Amino acid sequence: MAKRSVDMGRLSVRTGEMGYGLSRFDALLAWARKYSLFQYPFATACCGMEFMATAGPRYDIARFGAEAPRFSPRQADLLWVVGTISQRQAPILKRIYDQMAEPKWVIAFGTCASCGGFYDNYTTLPGIDKIIPVDIMIPGCPPRPEAVLDGLMLLQDKIAGGGRTATLVTPHELPERLVKLRMGRADSESGP
Ligand code: SF4
Repeated sequence: MAKRSVDMGRLSVRTGEMGYGLSRFDALLAWARKYSLFQYPFATACCGMEFMATAGPRYDIARFGAEAPRFSPRQADLLWVVGTISQRQAPILKRIYDQMAEPKWVIAFGTCASCGGFYDNYTTLPGIDKIIPVDIMIPGCPPRPEAVLDGLMLLQDKIAGGGRTATLVTPHELPERLVKLRMGRADSESGP
């Protein structure tokens, strides 16, 4: 049996033989991909301000290994569609998606990108999933940075675990409870 001594106080571990680790290759690849996302920000409208906030020191998207922007689609694997997409912009967005190398992922940032938002008219694309596949949809007009980071972590889980069906980021508070909170009724109803 190999000699081994462990000193937890000094955090030193000595073994008498070379250590080794085992993993599946695809799991190792997925782990590396999920923490080395190169983003292409396709920002068209007011959601762009909120997107910038996630890169600031308070929310610090760099913690997730997903902050490096690449303004060439061939060097990016995560397409952030941020804002309203008009019918005239739709072919450009599709071309950018097509130019990205596989594997690639798409996040619809905000209500406009997810479903057209309140622009119920002939000029606006009613959701980017009409022209490209979407992995994560983040609701909100605009979504808060916390929701954006929730969406990013959801995507990282999908990259690690597989699965490409579109997933919606759910709110931390249910809308009905939020309305009650704003009306000042939540506390009075949650008594013993
Ligand atoms: S979802 Fe709201 S904030 Fe975002 S682009 Fe549309 S209108 Fe602007």
